Amino acid sequence: MHSPTLLTLAAILTALITSVLYAVWFFNKTIPGLRLWMLSFLFGSVFSVSLLVRDQIPEVLAVVISQGAISMAAYFCLLASRMYMGRRPLSHIYAVVGIGALISLAVYFTAVQPHPGMRFLLAGLGSGIYFLLTGHTLAQGGMRRVPARYLFAMVAGLHGTFLLLRPVLFKLAVPATASGQVDVSLVAQLSQFVVLEAIVAVVLLGFGALILANEFITSELRHLAEVDPLTSVFNRRAFLTLLDKAISSAERTQTVVPVLVMDLDHFKRVNDTWGHRAGDDVLRHFVVLANRCLRNEDVLGRLGGEEFAIFLPNAGGGGAIAVAERLRALVEAQPLVTDQRPIHLTVSVGVTLCADGDTADAALQRADEAMYLAKERGRNRVEMLVKPAAPEVPVAMTAA
Ligand code: GH3
Ligand code: MG
Ligand code: MG
Repeated sequence: MHSPTLLTLAAILTALITSVLYAVWFFNKTIPGLRLWMLSFLFGSVFSVSLLVRDQIPEVLAVVISQGAISMAAYFCLLASRMYMGRRPLSHIYAVVGIGALISLAVYFTAVQPHPGMRFLLAGLGSGIYFLLTGHTLAQGGMRRVPARYLFAMVAGLHGTFLLLRPVLFKLAVPATASGQVDVSLVAQLSQFVVLEAIVAVVLLGFGALILANEFITSELRHLAEVDPLTSVFNRRAFLTLLDKAISSAERTQTVVPVLVMDLDHFKRVNDTWGHRAGDDVLRHFVVLANRCLRNEDVLGRLGGEEFAIFLPNAGGGGAIAVAERLRALVEAQPLVTDQRPIHLTVSVGVTLCADGDTADAALQRADEAMYLAKERGRNRVEMLVKPAAPEVPVAMTAA
């Protein structure tokens, strides 16, 4: 009933997309789910070929292969999307039972009680449900942040819905005549439409998988460029960029942005006494403690070595000193527990307020000066420096 030209096109397209996905996966095996998407398209290729050669092989064999292949294609698409989203692997038992039951029923309606309508319904049943579940799995994370997921979810959801509703479409569009006959040419046209829809879905899902791979690589690169690998907080560059943005938005709302610079006291001694690895553990321990003192909107970064910075977009000067003092006291009270003795720590904190046309660099430098003041005055303390008020310019000078 299907047009051989369209089926050939579908087979070529699915095979091509399988090869492209294989090539992308081959060169970057870390992209989650990509291998499973490639296998999903491989099953899609088997499905298209099974429809093409249906008349050349025994009918029951053709039905088993096509029913199995389309269900597996959709199931692997679901597995791929779950892996991409970091969800736990599924137990395959339900899929094995479900797909086994679908194949058995399809064989029954071919060999025992031939019923093409029921076979058509079964062909879209398992795959339709799996594509709907794929859409549901991927539509998460925020449309603006991860649009590729929503694009893929929409295509999978629409395709799944179409697969489930196809039999209804046929029933409504091709009413049986009084003699029980159906309009064969209408059925042929609808069949072509079904293959066309599948071709469009295959192309969009193929592009979708590639766009998701691109989304993953982009976010990995951004992570590498912005995040300090040892402590997983923002690095200096990312911190300064975020601080610049916070200063711009504070200028619009006429508020100040408090900035804290923190430096662990006598950190060299920790390395010298306990070794560099223990020093690294201390840095991670400090980040855990600092995060305990912060709210969601506060931003923590590692400026380098054992020097960190925080900005607090919604705190005033008093709030910033309170946070700095809480952090200082917490670091003093919570040594890093090791197998041997606990490693006691203290931190010196400098606080400043960004205002009046400050740049991120200038604010950070002033907070750094405040931190050095805390070092000079005995360490394990908080000092604050504010920007000196601009001298009043005499009216006569302005006029000159
Ligand atoms: P002060 O109280 O004046 O800040 O003294 P300090 O010993 O903390 O400062 P100093 O600048 O003398 O020493 C900092 C040390 O931090 C020297 C360097 O080896 C160490 N360091 C820098 N980055 C890392 C790191 O990533 N891991 C470890 N373990 N040590 C680091
Ligand atoms: Mg130090
Ligand atoms: Mg230092």
